[in-house]
Amino acid sequence: MSKKNPNKCSFCGKAKEDVQILIAGVDGYICENCITQAKQIVDTEIFHLPEKAKEKVEMAKNLKPKAIKEYLDEYVIGQDDAKKVISVAVYNHYKRLMQSVADDEVEIEKSNILMVGKTGTGKTLIVKSIAKLLNVPFAIVDATVFTEAGYVGEDVESILTRLLQVCDYDIAAAEKGIVFIDEIDKISRKGDNPSLTRDIKEGTQQSLLKLIEGTEVLVPPQGGRKHPEQKLLKVDTKNILFLCGGSFDGIDKLISKRLNTSVIGFKHSKAGQEIEKENLLSYITHQDVRSYGLIPELLGRLPVLVHLEELDKEALTNILTKPKNALLKQYKKLFALEGIALEFAPEAIDFIVEKALEYKLGARGLRSICEAIITDAMYELPSQTDVKEYIITEAYAKQKLNKSRLSKLKVA
Ligand code: ADP
Repeated sequence: MSKKNPNKCSFCGKAKEDVQILIAGVDGYICENCITQAKQIVDTEIFHLPEKAKEKVEMAKNLKPKAIKEYLDEYVIGQDDAKKVISVAVYNHYKRLMQSVADDEVEIEKSNILMVGKTGTGKTLIVKSIAKLLNVPFAIVDATVFTEAGYVGEDVESILTRLLQVCDYDIAAAEKGIVFIDEIDKISRKGDNPSLTRDIKEGTQQSLLKLIEGTEVLVPPQGGRKHPEQKLLKVDTKNILFLCGGSFDGIDKLISKRLNTSVIGFKHSKAGQEIEKENLLSYITHQDVRSYGLIPELLGRLPVLVHLEELDKEALTNILTKPKNALLKQYKKLFALEGIALEFAPEAIDFIVEKALEYKLGARGLRSICEAIITDAMYELPSQTDVKEYIITEAYAKQKLNKSRLSKLKVA
């Protein structure tokens, strides 16, 4: 028997040039679209996968805000306000996914989140932990790589390419995923002077609008720029939870201006409450972020606004020692695998924290400082079979750090 027309899909009849691939069978050809459809039918009929996906969402929905916050507490030190607000927003997001519009007139809007806080305060950590808890696809993207279509850079749609890549192009899973857009403050149109850069940044914000709100987007599977010959995948973003984060350097001045206080020293707010400089961020409103340069339309799509506190000495000490996978616990485990009991003297821990504060690297600095201190020991000890116990003292920590490149960091 002769094969059917090799230039057409035998199932949908699409021409070879309208599809990406035609796979030959004994008596016909099949295109990638028909294969995807066939797979969906098999999944539904045999493996009942859509129900499983629904079960997953059901499971997420059953996680109450308190349970989400308690989970976050295991990994993220401090930031209680942010963790609480985000737990509620995530809970509502998944409740919204379960809502059937047909049986209720009130449609719940998306609760996308804007996180404002200095670098290394835990923004990414919070989002990562939530994605892990919910077991949904999760992508981190940097807003600075995006530009308005037509300029050098990536189209905002490539955010979704990353999400698709982490779940092996499972579109249904990606459509319930979480996206973290970092450095959102870097696309704010700062200053009032009209300039091309300012316009492009505003254009980028405009392009993000629809994506964040929820729309069907054609996504280039390999990212980058869309081009005419490329086959695109359709992704609906209405159930994707977007979290945006940024340090918004200098926003404290805008908050202070609005509150009518001076950034330096202590003044009284209208309510007669004392406001400290460190405290200013906790008074942040959408209005301040707008003054900073995010367009109101975009802010409208990020209704939940949270701030992250700067980490003080106590918080940094806790970060080193308390979370489930705290840095010092990790080093201890590494040494334990060599049969060595590793200890850090309390003064050594104080020293590490003080240096992290001095270098102004937030919690991010803790790791580099610890590495600088402990690398020599990690290099030497595995070859010394007689060592069963090792204590990192303050003097040892000082000596190792002084020898490292980190000690060249000047305090700003
Ligand atoms: P950001 O996104 O705010 O710049 P990250 O979440 O990437 O900061 O933090 C960098 C690293 O510092 C994290 O991987 C984590 O190890 C540590 N860290 C930061 N903040 C916290 C926190 N509040 N609790 C525990 N660890 C933290």
